[in-house]
Amino acid sequence: MSFQPPKGTDDIAPPQSEPWRRLLRDFDALASRYGYGLIITPVFESTDLFERGVGEDTEVVQKQMYTFTDRGGRSITLRPENTAGVMRAYLAGGGAGISKVAYSGPMFRYERPQAGRRRQFWQVGVEYLGTESPIADVETIVLARDFLGAAETPTELVLNSLGDGVCRPAYLSLLNRYLETKRGALCDDSLARLPSNPLRVLDCKVCAPLLVDAPLMADHLCAPCVQHYEAVKNALTGLGIDYRQDSRLVRGLDYYVRTAFEFVSTTLTTAQTALLGGGRYDGLAEVIGGKGAPGVGWAAGVDRILLASKMTAAPPLDAYVVVEAGRSPLDALRLAGRLRDAGLSADFEPEGRSVKSQFRSAERRGARSTVILSERGAQVRIDGDKADLAAEEVATWLSIRLQG
Ligand code: AMP
Repeated sequence: MSFQPPKGTDDIAPPQSEPWRRLLRDFDALASRYGYGLIITPVFESTDLFERGVGEDTEVVQKQMYTFTDRGGRSITLRPENTAGVMRAYLAGGGAGISKVAYSGPMFRYERPQAGRRRQFWQVGVEYLGTESPIADVETIVLARDFLGAAETPTELVLNSLGDGVCRPAYLSLLNRYLETKRGALCDDSLARLPSNPLRVLDCKVCAPLLVDAPLMADHLCAPCVQHYEAVKNALTGLGIDYRQDSRLVRGLDYYVRTAFEFVSTTLTTAQTALLGGGRYDGLAEVIGGKGAPGVGWAAGVDRILLASKMTAAPPLDAYVVVEAGRSPLDALRLAGRLRDAGLSADFEPEGRSVKSQFRSAERRGARSTVILSERGAQVRIDGDKADLAAEEVATWLSIRLQG
């Protein structure tokens, strides 16, 4: 039997998991500070939620879903993204009022695996439901900026407006007429997308050189969409947040309206550089069968962010407890417990090995201090200094010393 994880999936284990832990903690703390409650929805949902909520014409639904029939004969799909699930949960709860929620968890897409593109990947994200205010769009963007800042990774914010049910249909007929004139030269993927999803054709890297003079949504927005877009841009400028407008940035489905954005890595050299993507989806609730409810949000891929991040591995241990003859690992557990209660990280060796081997472990763990327990009491060694203390004094002494 092979012990490798399935193709396109990863074991995230120490020490590589340490930046994960920090990033997930930072996300949690930030989301909470911004007033987003935690939401946990099922990892699998009824297949038709994604067929409707992600869109039957999308690559995700057509080619990438892990779908199976359960023992009760229901078609079930492992979630490829979480916005549809969160909206379903909001509607299940009555779908009224403003709700700000944050999530974190694995998503599943049958992709061709490569760096930053996995079959199981971890997304964190937020959804701001129940309001059309452009300030909600901006708040989610500010939170995204802060989150990526915590991840120590430089990015550029790319912004667009996709119009709405009023201005987009007219624009789409214009775009369709234009694309028909280019039909002979489009790549196979674009040809396949043309009938159902012409906006995605604009997004095609292969066809881009052919489409430089294509009509762009940004030039055909109706007055309320212009107003919304201007409000978002003015607020960003007022808050000192730089952005680049890209009229070719799309989400490609009818229920995505107005704001669309991405934070793109400026340092990653892999094919996948979009670290975080989001936008407004005021049509989604109706598409999945509910009463209308506006929403805006984003999702970011933790796997991909950490490829680009400068975050380092585990912070060193504050203290390693070494026991000399006459003291046991249980004594070390007790002392480590005191240190841990004082908010310090502490560890020890449980098998009663030699003192030399315990010191080696302390060094291997990069411990900032060593506490040696003997029959005489405790000696703390830190930065070349030694202090002889009673066991109950060690935690307070070390806390002050490590903070100083
Ligand atoms: P999406 O849900 O496609 O808008 O993607 C939002 C973010 O999730 C992207 O910017 C990536 O960071 C991440 N992401 C999407 N698909 C994958 C994948 N297959 N593997 C790793 N990260 C992904």
